[in-house]
Formats: sequence, C-alpha cells, structure tokens
Amino acid sequence: LNTTGAVSRNPATGALIADYPFQTPGQVDRLLADNAAAQRLWRATPVGERIAAYRRLAAALRENAESLAALMTAEMGKTLAAARAEVEKCASSIEWVADNGPGVLADEPAPIDGDDQIYISYLPLGSILAVMPWNFPLWQVIRAAGPIMFSGNGFVLKHAPNVMGSAYALQQIFETAGFPKGLFANLNAGNEVVAQVIEDPRIAAVTLTGSARAGSAVAAIAGKALKKSLLELGGADAFIVLADADIDAAVKTAIHARFQNAGQVCLAAKRFILERPIAEAFTRKFVQAARQIKVGDPTDPATVVGPMARADLRDELHHQVERTLQAGATLLLGGRKIDGPGYFYAPTVLTGVTPGMAAFDEETFGPVAAITVADSVEQAIALANTSEYGLGGALWTGDTARAQRLARRLETGGVFVNGFSLTDPRIPTGGVKKSGYGRELSHFGLREFTNAQAVWVK
Ligand code: NAP
Repeated sequence: LNTTGAVSRNPATGALIADYPFQTPGQVDRLLADNAAAQRLWRATPVGERIAAYRRLAAALRENAESLAALMTAEMGKTLAAARAEVEKCASSIEWVADNGPGVLADEPAPIDGDDQIYISYLPLGSILAVMPWNFPLWQVIRAAGPIMFSGNGFVLKHAPNVMGSAYALQQIFETAGFPKGLFANLNAGNEVVAQVIEDPRIAAVTLTGSARAGSAVAAIAGKALKKSLLELGGADAFIVLADADIDAAVKTAIHARFQNAGQVCLAAKRFILERPIAEAFTRKFVQAARQIKVGDPTDPATVVGPMARADLRDELHHQVERTLQAGATLLLGGRKIDGPGYFYAPTVLTGVTPGMAAFDEETFGPVAAITVADSVEQAIALANTSEYGLGGALWTGDTARAQRLARRLETGGVFVNGFSLTDPRIPTGGVKKSGYGRELSHFGLREFTNAQAVWVK
C-alpha cells in the first residue's frame, strides 16, 4: 500500500501507468468547500436543467467511450469489449435517471382524508461521500452518482487507488457535460483523511461499495458521527441448478456468470449448488466449457478472461484455493497462477466443496468456481442460505412457478430465475446479511439519499 499517493499499474504487464500524489489538506478542504457551494447551486437548479445536464453527460460518456474503455482496461485488466459495454451501460443508466427521476422525486400527496394539503417532498441531503472499488471503475461510480446527484446532492468520489486515472477522467466528463464545477469532486486521499472527511460537517452521508472489512470501518465512523451510510459489500452468490433445469443453457450462463471480469464481480455466481441427478452432467459440461476460455491480453478481442487487478488479490485467491483443497475438495481445472508477467490466474473449478471450506464460506473474487452437490431441493436452498453473505443468486429450473415460491426462501437481495445476477437501472441492487444494507438504482436508489420531508398545510 502506498501511503503518499495512488498508483495505477497495468495488471496485464505489471508496468506503471501513473502516480497520483494524494491531495494536500488544503486541497481537500477546498474540494469540500467547492462541493458544498456547487451543491447549493445545483439543488436550486430547475429539474429541466438537471435533465439536460444528464443528457449531455450520457452523450459525453458515449463520445469518449473509446478512451474511457482503454483506460479502464489498462488500469484494471477487464477486456476492452467489456469496458466498452460498461461505458454504454453508464450512458444508458444516466438516461434512465433523466427519464424517470422527475417522476420518482416529484412531490407525493399523502393518503390522508380531509381538506388539508399534505405531501412528501424528496429533498437532497447535501454532499455525499462515495467510497468505491476498482472492479467496474466507471459503473460502480455512475450507479451511485446517477441517482444520488439527480435529487440535488453533491458527490465526492473516493475511488480505489489503482483506478485513479478513471476517477479523474470521470470528473472531467462531468465538467465537460456542464455540471456545476466541483459538484462531482474526486478526492484522492488515504484512509485516515477519508475518516476525517466522513466526520467533516460538510459531508452529509456516505455510500460505500467494497469489502465487508472496508464497509465496517467506514460505517463505524459514519455511525459515530450520526451520518447515514449505505453499504454494497461482497457476495458469495449461489447458482442453484435443479434436476429439471435446461442444463446446456445453465452451463452457458454459468460460465459467463462466474468468469466475467475475471471473476471479480460482487454479484458473480460463486457457489454452484447442483441437485444430484444433474450434477455429473452439469459438472462435465461446465469443466469442458471453462477449459475453452481464452485467458490473455485484455485488449485482444478473442480474450475472455484478462488478468486479475492486483498481484495481492491473486495471491489471496490462490491461498483460498489451496485451503479449500487441503480441506478435502477436488481440483477439476486450473488452480494455479499463470507464469509470466501480469497477474493472470487460470480458470479454476473445484468440486466436493462443502460448508467449512474457504471457497464455500468466503467470497472468491476471481475466476474460481466451487461446486457443491445437494441431495434435494430443500438441501439446495439450505446450502444457498448457509452463507454470511446475501447479495444475489440464480435459480435454474423448468418450473418457474416453483422457482417463484423458492425465491421467497432465499436470503438475498435478488433472485434471478434461469438467468444470472446482474445490475440494471430499473431494479434495486443491494444485499442482506454481510452483503450490506440500503439499495442502489431504481426508485430506491433515487430516494436513498433524500430527506423525505412531510409538509402539512392546514
Ligand atoms: P476494498 O479493499 O474494500 O476497497 C473498496 C474501497 O474501499 C476502496 O476505495 C478502498 O480504498 C476503500 N477502503 C478500504 N478500507 C477502507 C477504510 N478503512 N477506510 C476508508 N476506505 C477504505 O475492496 P476492493 O478490493 O477494492 O474490491 C473488492 C471487494 O468489493 C469485494 O469484496 C467485492 O465483493 C466488493 N464489491 C461489492 C460490490 C457490490 O455492489 N456489493 C461491488 C463491487 C465490489 P483503499 O484501497 O485506499 O483502502
């Protein structure tokens, strides 16, 4: 860990891209003051002008798609194709907010009889601090900022140090789109300064996407300062395949659900829970497909899995695999670091994984699939719920009515029947248990950081 600045390094080669020295205390102070001033201006900006700014933002993202995508690929190793799709997802989500935000945030009449006029206004809170991870350098930020800023809040981004170039590029895009200067502000600082910023009276609340460890640290500081926090943390999503599922379709989706973004997705399928009658066939086809995955240079259009984002993350993942094997699981594929420059890890499949093993109990943030066989539907649901996490999950079956009944018993923030966990501006995203609290996106995300003010006029 660098204590003087953010360092961005190409994980495909290990080469240094850039150094971003931390901001000085004076710069941080000015940033917070400017953000507060811009927020006062923005909250008084008519909604029509806010919509126009959002449309210009979507256009600016699209106009700069190639350079933004190249930067993300260089900084954290996702494939260029995935990076381009990420920019487009950001642009279309910003448009969704522009289209739907005004309705969701309009004054809402309260359902009380009588002649009095009673309504609820959704007012901004002020400046919101967002602590963000590197795995989707643009999307994580936009999915928070889009809804949060639309109601009139300011946004102070504390991005992960290894994608600081993406953070500055995004700040530039907001300025290009004509948002008040300083309203979207990039804070480049270490965690001690971040703690002071959370306590600063100019910050109203904090949202964090990251690990449970980071969430707990940040929420504790926010709680002490009596400030609201929203936490989007890790996950160990189950991908349940029941005996009546379409196996070929399930395998195809499972491969994408686990290995997209080199497996570095909070909502990725991590624990494959298979009902015994199809377990052998699913496993065989899954291993066959995983063996075909092309790992390599993320700028090569043929590549499916690029490097992991950092050397230490790869070491940690490999250690989880080793511990799982020592505990009695069987290695069907991979299980090793790939020699040479860059932080590549071979697509890995483990079977015989049971509760108590690392790949079952912990989040595996990389290209490692853990297979567990269940003797019944009941056991499959129980295994899925045997987790500290509760982010999303997938359920494959030919009987969708049954799936809907079972969904209610899954302790997660989302259930995707015959599909895979994903985020979409129209649906809330978030979790239960150690996956965090609060919701981003949809009408929930638009209202999370507002003051639902009741107005009663006699
Ligand atoms: P991380 O180490 O938790 O870092 C996330 C962010 O939190 C970074 O900006 C990091 O900055 C900051 N942070 C960490 N400790 C902090 C502290 N004590 N005080 C203030 N800030 C702190 O996670 P990561 O390795 O970047 O990302 C992987 C994790 O994020 C996984 O667990 C994954 O599941 C989770 N994640 C969740 C979601 C979701 O939507 N639920 C989405 C993506 C990722 P520093 O690096 O400078 O400490």
